[in-house]
Amino acid sequence: MKSQEIRSKFLEFFQNKAHSIVPSAPMVVKDDPTLMFTNAGMNQFKEFFLGNGIPKNRRIADTQKCLRVSGKHNDLEEVGKDTYHHTMFEMLGNWSFGDYFKKEAITWAWELLTEVYKLDKENLYVSVFEGNEEEDLPLDKEALDLWKAILPEERIIYGNKKDNFWEMGDQGPCGPSSEIHVDLRSAEEKAKVPGRDLVNNDHPLVVEIWNLVFIQFNRKADGSLEKLPEKHVDTGMGFERLCMALQGVKSNYDTDVFTPLIKKISETTASEYGKDEETDIAIRVIADHVRAVSFAIADGQLPNSGGAGYVIRRILRRAIRYGFTFLNQKEPFVFKLVDTLAKQMGEAFPELRSQQNLIENVIREEENSFLRTLDQGLVLLDQIMNESKDKNVSGKKAFELYDTYGFPIDLTALILSEKGYTLDQKGFEEELQKQKDRSRNASKVTSGDWQVVKEAETEGFVGYDSLEAEVEILRYRKVESQKEGELYQLVFSRTPFYPEGGGQVGDKGTLQAKNGNVIYILDTRKENNLIIHLTKDLPEDLSGTFIAKVNVAQRARTAANHSATHLLHQALRKILGTHVEQKGSMVQSDYLRFDFSHFSKVSAEELQQVEEFVNSRIAERLPLVDNREMTYQEAINDGAIALFGEKYGDKVRAVRFGDSMELCGGTHVGNTADIWHFKIISEGAVASGIRRIEAITNEAAKEYFTAQTEAFSELKAVLKNAKDPVKAVVNLQEENAELKKQIEVLLRDKAKNLKGDLKNQIKEINGINFLAQKVDLDIGGIKDLSFQLGDEMNNLFLLFGAQHGEKAVLSCYISKDLVKQKDLHAGKVVKELGRYIQGGGGGQPFYATAGGKNPSGLDEALRKAEEFVK
Ligand code: ATP
Ligand code: MG
Repeated sequence: MKSQEIRSKFLEFFQNKAHSIVPSAPMVVKDDPTLMFTNAGMNQFKEFFLGNGIPKNRRIADTQKCLRVSGKHNDLEEVGKDTYHHTMFEMLGNWSFGDYFKKEAITWAWELLTEVYKLDKENLYVSVFEGNEEEDLPLDKEALDLWKAILPEERIIYGNKKDNFWEMGDQGPCGPSSEIHVDLRSAEEKAKVPGRDLVNNDHPLVVEIWNLVFIQFNRKADGSLEKLPEKHVDTGMGFERLCMALQGVKSNYDTDVFTPLIKKISETTASEYGKDEETDIAIRVIADHVRAVSFAIADGQLPNSGGAGYVIRRILRRAIRYGFTFLNQKEPFVFKLVDTLAKQMGEAFPELRSQQNLIENVIREEENSFLRTLDQGLVLLDQIMNESKDKNVSGKKAFELYDTYGFPIDLTALILSEKGYTLDQKGFEEELQKQKDRSRNASKVTSGDWQVVKEAETEGFVGYDSLEAEVEILRYRKVESQKEGELYQLVFSRTPFYPEGGGQVGDKGTLQAKNGNVIYILDTRKENNLIIHLTKDLPEDLSGTFIAKVNVAQRARTAANHSATHLLHQALRKILGTHVEQKGSMVQSDYLRFDFSHFSKVSAEELQQVEEFVNSRIAERLPLVDNREMTYQEAINDGAIALFGEKYGDKVRAVRFGDSMELCGGTHVGNTADIWHFKIISEGAVASGIRRIEAITNEAAKEYFTAQTEAFSELKAVLKNAKDPVKAVVNLQEENAELKKQIEVLLRDKAKNLKGDLKNQIKEINGINFLAQKVDLDIGGIKDLSFQLGDEMNNLFLLFGAQHGEKAVLSCYISKDLVKQKDLHAGKVVKELGRYIQGGGGGQPFYATAGGKNPSGLDEALRKAEEFVK
């Protein structure tokens, strides 16, 4: 069975059991501070488990793009070394939210595996939770009895809390699980060691394929468990592992999900797969990583230097260095694999095809810059080795190379061992741990349990239409982080406050109690579909109603910037072409930032056209047409622009101004005239193929023009109110250039005279032409003078001193013949004499300089110079 068919059979099976099939959520997570990437199918449904919402259909199934490279689930170090862990993989899943439970979950899983996929029952093992005394949790008897009815007891394994009690995080929904494992070994091997001994034992051919989790508890902040009012099913099956089991192969990389990529890598790097373990690991790492990176870029996450972008950069760099070290790839090559990937997976994931060009460009550019880093790192490492006395490189030095220059530690270790050096690996690990602790502490957030004030559903955001609302507080909790200190998070029965999202900042404002007391809302965010208001204090009395008021001025300016962003997007697509796609945006009250795909600098004329286009739309006074009741497909058919990497619900909101139409949840002006004016203040590159425009509107544009006018008036005043200030400045520049030329001529004459004077003062000591003298020249001038004299005279020893403000310099020149004959060294001379000016320096044997902070010592230094030639 081909992988395509395996995937669709899964979805079909659950569709026939009344499940709704939903699209995969984006891999990069946007509204969950505890999670950077989607690492399981259940992530996008967290709100349902947490009770923050109810799905339209209580049965759902899908295939989810997952990435396990950070946080609680991190498989990065396994990837490539083994044959069944990936960074990015697809997780097939089915869910019941308060609907069916263990019986259906178990029997359907078995039915699908053995009757639809026709896996041999004899090869399957299952596990059940054995219970845990400390937690006061019993054996999962219900699951055990269900399995006993299906397969013989000797193929049921009792698992402990680590393997069979699944938790989303330190807090939140959790419950016992039942895993299904498959034994893919030959009959011969099976006869030797029974499969049940190898379950959960890291055997590459006895692997877990499906995990059925029965969510029935909530883990509270104090660590205790609380029974949930409703029970849920959450299952996850590794698609690539399933393909391995069904295609009769011994590795995920031998399934048709990977073979085209493996072949392409072999061709591109002229290496063979399946001959040598080291090469094979490198090929697997690259095949895996190019998928993860390409999908991330298609989802809008570019490799960069912070947060999620940095994780993606590190994955790509890992692929590059495996290629560099083991496949001898010194030139960019990973980008060449994207085409194969897009051809093969483009049907299920069309974004790979539509963005292939961008993905290739970004990867190629990253490769170029990392290969340069590697080159530099190799030079630095050479230096470190030269400096080390005992052929041992300290952990600190290696860490510096790793941390400051991005030079990978395993490469350092490899090179050192090749050259017979040792590395203080332990010291390195310590430094690394220190750094990790620092960043963990910096980002640590502790949150208390939610305190429920009123049991009710929240109506959510009502702030499109009003900036003020009467609200009740439904719940609150205390959170603490190093970054923000101690804050409260409040959830209201409804809210006019816009939560940060879609590039737009969250609203600020006030919450006023009936008695007139006011507390400030510092920010508004969205967490797992819940709108959270941040405050420093709690109202004295939490019950009753409050007036929630958004800061109107700030919202108006933010809205102007957001609407301008849409017009800017439209203008760029009109003027530069429809290859322009939004790649990120930031909408604040004082400015806006817009990142987009485009391959060259936007010229000044183009920028002007863009400005004019947007300002024309403003002048046209286009009203906002706000449609919140469309389905995704209807909006797209109507010509709306959607973004990759965004999660869209059943109903989308289409925001239209004239011909500009985008799917957007943000807040906007009622009419483009409210933007007042649009002004671009910068344009530049953020990555290969990605440009960034920063612009201002509204009040900020007004302030900008006022400031410019003021500066211009001042300038005019300085120019004595010249009629044509531009001409006046040009005249000044010309005059300035002429004066500079004249000064140069004068200085040259002065130096010539000086040289003549000095030459006359040179005296002979022990056959050496000696001069020690103070001069009034800068260091460049001193050097020129020394070398000119050196050209005209042999056996020369010169020591010049000069005072520059509070500083002193010394310079020593010694003819090359003298250096040899008399064993003199200019570097040593200035080092020694540098003491008198309280400084130091050095250089080559024939020329060296020193700087110091004591000019009054110059005379003494010059006097002492004679001792070197005597
Ligand atoms: P393992 O112990 O093999 O790492 P897990 O316990 O981490 O698996 P779950 O978190 O239960 O796995 O995920 C559900 C399913 O997803 C697993 O049964 C497996 O088939 C698949 N899976 C998990 N991690 C990976 C990975 N890194 N690459 C590919 N598939 C994976
Ligand atoms: Mg795992």
